[in-house]
Amino acid sequence: MSNRIFDALAYVLDAAISTAWPRECFVCGEAAGAFAVCHACEPILLRLPAAVCPRCALPAPVEGMLCGACQRRPPCFDATRAVFVYTHPVREMVLALKHGQGFVLLDWLGQAMSGALNGLKADCIIPTPLHPRRLAERGFNQSGELARRVAKTCGLPLWREAVVRDVDTPKFAGMRGKQRRRAVRGIFRCVEDFSGQHVVLLDDVMTSGATLDELARTLKQRGAVRVTNLVLARTLRVPRK
Ligand SMILES: [Zn+2]
Ligand SMILES: [Zn+2]
Repeated sequence: MSNRIFDALAYVLDAAISTAWPRECFVCGEAAGAFAVCHACEPILLRLPAAVCPRCALPAPVEGMLCGACQRRPPCFDATRAVFVYTHPVREMVLALKHGQGFVLLDWLGQAMSGALNGLKADCIIPTPLHPRRLAERGFNQSGELARRVAKTCGLPLWREAVVRDVDTPKFAGMRGKQRRRAVRGIFRCVEDFSGQHVVLLDDVMTSGATLDELARTLKQRGAVRVTNLVLARTLRVPRK
């Protein structure tokens, strides 16, 4: 299906969902009006602390200071903006999105992510691509759906098919940093030229950052000058580098 038809269908579906159902809060189940989370529950969603490394968004001793890991081995991406800490109930929201039960969350989470971008000047936005087989299984890419909303709110061009994933997600469990980096080497391929572009990479969760690092490396090989990650949730305990 062409992107244009898909977007039109998605738009109609979005409109139907947001007008047909008064929403229940995802966390407590009480009426939340047009929102996915009620005002009382909003503070339960843990936001990232102010003092984080600007490059990888892990807590740093001083606000704006690079963490030790980024100083020792700078990643290929230049900056990371993360909205929430990957913990309850954000973790359940991410899982709901992944399993196709969280469509009513998309607008709300997309707004939160647009806010984190905070008027950043960039040239385009790209969601982390899924392998075609995975996309066929799920029928949608949750990062793509979030990216569509952020692109619309922030007025950024969405380059949904500019990068493809040739290899499916490796199983990271138990792998150390070096093994993870090796496991993702060469899994992405750019089908567009990114010369001179500042690219925003959107993903739902950032754990070790190995996948985003590889994606940024691939984009820079094709001319991107700057890569900023925009992630919904950041895990704060990451595997050893
Ligand atoms: Zn609530
Ligand atoms: Zn860092």
